[in-house]
Amino acid sequence: AKHAGRNAYRFFAEQMNVQAVEHMHLETRLRQALERGEFVLYYQPQADLNSGEITGVEALVRWQTPDDGLVAPAKFIPIAEETGLIVPLGKWVMGEACRQARAWQDAGLPPFTVAVNLSGLQFRRGDLLETVINSLVLADLDSEWLELELTESIMIQDAELTLETARRLKAIGVRLSVDDFGTGYSSLAYLKRFAVDKLKIARPFVRDLLSDPSDAAIVGAIIQMAHGLKLRTIAEGVEDAAVAEQLRLCGCDELQGYWLARPMPADQLADFVRGRQAP
Ligand code: C2E
Ligand code: CA
Ligand code: CA
Repeated sequence: AKHAGRNAYRFFAEQMNVQAVEHMHLETRLRQALERGEFVLYYQPQADLNSGEITGVEALVRWQTPDDGLVAPAKFIPIAEETGLIVPLGKWVMGEACRQARAWQDAGLPPFTVAVNLSGLQFRRGDLLETVINSLVLADLDSEWLELELTESIMIQDAELTLETARRLKAIGVRLSVDDFGTGYSSLAYLKRFAVDKLKIARPFVRDLLSDPSDAAIVGAIIQMAHGLKLRTIAEGVEDAAVAEQLRLCGCDELQGYWLARPMPADQLADFVRGRQAP
């Protein structure tokens, strides 16, 4: 029994080691990937639920590895956050999204907003305001076309510092939205204090809208409250027409999800928008 215990411990320690080594390896590879320009942005369109018009896109990062193909953000964003690499990576995302927004406008597409995901560390460490201003100036993009997605947890952590930065961002004309709304612990007072423009209703509520009456009640209440506060609403993760129609009946303003389109490279997004314009 003694031996078994010791062996179990050794096994556990070895496992821990393997994990730590893999982790370190990934961190090094991510750092190199950034230097080598292996990250790419995919864009998922968002549409007005009444007119069908494309109102914006969300920029979603992917890692284009030379050998393992396209890696999803769930595989590397958590490590980028733990190691602080999310700050330089987030800076790249911001610059690239603004550059692309300008390129689409220059190519003659009707202007739409580009939404960029933020991580808490970009607020706490790092010069987020400066990064945003630099990106806009460099791309020659009007600030009204940039939207920043915050999570409820970002608004709660370091609330004063984050609030101050959010105010300055608003002052230069950038839009703010709350990502995955309803899944976190935000107090409704934060919505007012942060002066956000839009709530993104989280996918879990949207998914079960037609089958789960409490999810339907939650979605309805979020839309009512948002409109009372003069905020727009967008439903995330809409996968079928029936859910889209129900959202429209509930008064939701916009939708995003596989039913409209999956995230896609920038050139495909341009074709997608052109294809939907009236002939
Ligand atoms: P998110 O911000 O909630 O992004 C939405 C995710 O849902 C995306 O996954 C998108 O592909 C997926 N999605 C969209 N529509 C549907 C649908 O109809 N059904 C289903 N099942 N899924 C749908 P993705 O691209 O894998 O991104 C995952 C997460 O990684 C994002 O969640 C975001 O939190 C994070 N992320 C992505 N890009 C960035 C970035 O540039 N910076 C930061 N900090 N985080 C990012
Ligand atoms: Ca998001
Ligand atoms: Ca989301």
